[in-house]
Amino acid sequence: MDLIDRLVGNAGEWAEDFTAGELAVQPSLHLAVVACQDSRLDPQSLLGLGPGEAHYMRNAGGTVTDDMIRSLCISQRFLGTREIVLIHHTDCGMLRFSDDELLGDLHRETGLRPTWAVETFNDLDEDLRMSMRRILRSPFIPYKDRVRGFVYEVETGRLREVKLEDGRADHRGAAKAWRSGA
Ligand SMILES: [Zn+2]
Repeated sequence: MDLIDRLVGNAGEWAEDFTAGELAVQPSLHLAVVACQDSRLDPQSLLGLGPGEAHYMRNAGGTVTDDMIRSLCISQRFLGTREIVLIHHTDCGMLRFSDDELLGDLHRETGLRPTWAVETFNDLDEDLRMSMRRILRSPFIPYKDRVRGFVYEVETGRLREVKLEDGRADHRGAAKAWRSGA
């Protein structure tokens, strides 16, 4: 059976048992989760969340890109979310190739370079910190006093917190350091 036909069949069964039609559009826990698209990472199950409780923004790597900022901006301004959880994970596909590799291949094969940044990384914890910094320094994210980052270990199922280093954790400190050339 065609995969998508099977999935549509599953959706038919879902509708038969459906009871969540009263859920509000605003996530009830006022939470946004930014995570990698990896198939082994299921943020909803991992964090024990149910329907209607949180927003999920996912992309390759779980990196905070401009489009993630767009989604978070809308999530906070119009849909009431106030806390952000970021989840990267071990054995991520984004650790396996470089930006230049992909850009070179795409240019060779298509004659075009994409306008988007590839955003591969070598250091998982540092990319997570950079993603947190992008949120903290964005003028478009109004609520950023509760932003925390984690690495999910696909080998063990465990979640490990990664903290921002002292002095660069808040955006004012970061801006001061930048102005002083640190
Ligand atoms: Zn990944």
